[in-house]
Amino acid sequence: RVAYVNGVYRPHGQAVVHVEDRGFQFADGVYEVWSVADGRLADFEGHMTRLFRSLGELRIDPPMSREALTRVLRETVRRNRVRDGIVYLQVTRGTARRDHPFPPPGTPPSVVVTAKSMNFDALEAKAAKGITVLTQPDNRWGRCDIKTVGLLPNVLAKQAALDAGAGDAWLVDEMGLITEGTSNNAWIVDKDGALRTRDIQANILRGITRQTLMEIVKEEGLTVDERPFSVEDAKQAREPFVTSASAFVLPVVGIDGAKIGDGKPGPLAKRLRDLYLDKTRDEAI
Ligand code: PLP
Repeated sequence: RVAYVNGVYRPHGQAVVHVEDRGFQFADGVYEVWSVADGRLADFEGHMTRLFRSLGELRIDPPMSREALTRVLRETVRRNRVRDGIVYLQVTRGTARRDHPFPPPGTPPSVVVTAKSMNFDALEAKAAKGITVLTQPDNRWGRCDIKTVGLLPNVLAKQAALDAGAGDAWLVDEMGLITEGTSNNAWIVDKDGALRTRDIQANILRGITRQTLMEIVKEEGLTVDERPFSVEDAKQAREPFVTSASAFVLPVVGIDGAKIGDGKPGPLAKRLRDLYLDKTRDEAI
């Protein structure tokens, strides 16, 4: 495997950044993840647009043009011979002597790109079974709309879920409403059959998979109710599921140890997964 680090493609095992990189010291950076389908990047524009927004919100200078970044992403996918998998891009505020204020103007941002293959059949098998989730308090900062590399609360919640034998955590705000998963957006078909996901005015990441799935849902003549739901709503739901670039649409079959329905993935989640995969694979570039 190879990784792109600040202008150079290096063997993966030797791809390193400086000890004084601000990503390392302050989590002062952002990232994006694209799904790779048949060697091409899915939901390309959505993720690229969100990357530039994240950079803008943190006042990190774009390290290069969209076109140049696109070439690096493609080249990293190609050099790693990824057919199905993901490509990861991270941009930090660069390397400078450790000090909280922004480094001097002109300090170049650091750019890292890696790509890895994923076994598509294994992902399909996982989706056919569904995952369980554990609810955990959402104690993240107030700007979860920015895709920063500061993911410690997500890491701790995910590990708590795994330690409890669940597949992921769903984060819950002070009102008892679910915000999102540790690396995905949360959805339900509620007990009355309404398809619901939390609105993006809330402190959540504006998922690109969420956005694309909303378009698909409309094309199917269905509606999405962008309204928060509680842990109780989720437990009583017909079909909970999550969306993300790496998991696509993934059914949830248990919450906090309680089975949802018959404990099997629901029909709408399955259908939306297939529709999402068809559309994004068709439109990948
Ligand atoms: N929410 C969080 C906290 C995430 O980290 C992610 C993806 O990594 C998502 C939602 C899903 O976003 P996307 O569909 O753009 O991958």
